[in-house]
Amino acid sequence: MFIDTHAHLQDQLYPNLKDVLENAKQNNVQKIICASYDLNSSILSCNLSEEHEEIFATVGVHPENCVEYNEHVEQQLETLCKMQKKAIAIGEIGLDYHYTKENKETQKRVFIAQIKLAHKLKLPIVIHTRDAIGDTLEIVENYSEYIKNGCVFHCFHGSKEVLKIIMDKGFYVSYGGAITFNNANTLREIVSLTPLDRILTETDCPYMSPVPFRGKTNQPKNIPIIAQKISEIKNIEINNLEKILEENTKNIYKI
Ligand SMILES: [Zn+2]
Repeated sequence: MFIDTHAHLQDQLYPNLKDVLENAKQNNVQKIICASYDLNSSILSCNLSEEHEEIFATVGVHPENCVEYNEHVEQQLETLCKMQKKAIAIGEIGLDYHYTKENKETQKRVFIAQIKLAHKLKLPIVIHTRDAIGDTLEIVENYSEYIKNGCVFHCFHGSKEVLKIIMDKGFYVSYGGAITFNNANTLREIVSLTPLDRILTETDCPYMSPVPFRGKTNQPKNIPIIAQKISEIKNIEINNLEKILEENTKNIYKI
């Protein structure tokens, strides 16, 4: 089976969820991890995981929503994870300086708080980092004692050097539609350097549709296109890759 380890089903895709799930199934995408970005999306994600066998949830506050994070929110995230067995990771959390640089300190504080929350709950973390890799790696390094249950860099697009640091720490990276883009030769080189046992697949839908659906609404059904691209880059048979990806997902997320 294929697995979409990072999909946002709570918004744009939600009204057509039945079709979205059916399309996924028909393309052998049998499990979907619904990634959250604030308290409301975390609640919705957990509800969806309860209603649908194939859906699992992450809960967490994205750096763009860091100002909403407080003790009350943290308490609710914790309760969600304790009540919902299918809440399998804290994410997406991290740093994003692309649009907002003025709240760097808040972003860092919220990122660290959620790393500690994941540690307390014995869950892995899902990291979003954009234009902020230096600070992200510094926090991951300084708080490594709190990251003992696994870590995924989602939608990975870092350099060789960054990849090496992440691999040396035993973390995972997940790749999405961007690896199929025409101008993504550098990223494909990074994929070629990534050990097979540390790769996960994701769509990050409804964003980041792979070629030939670029610009259209992305869906979990597109995972085989991404896996196919990885199999070409790594020169491995797609059926073998499928098993490895499934195993990797089980190892990190225990699903
Ligand atoms: Zn995402």
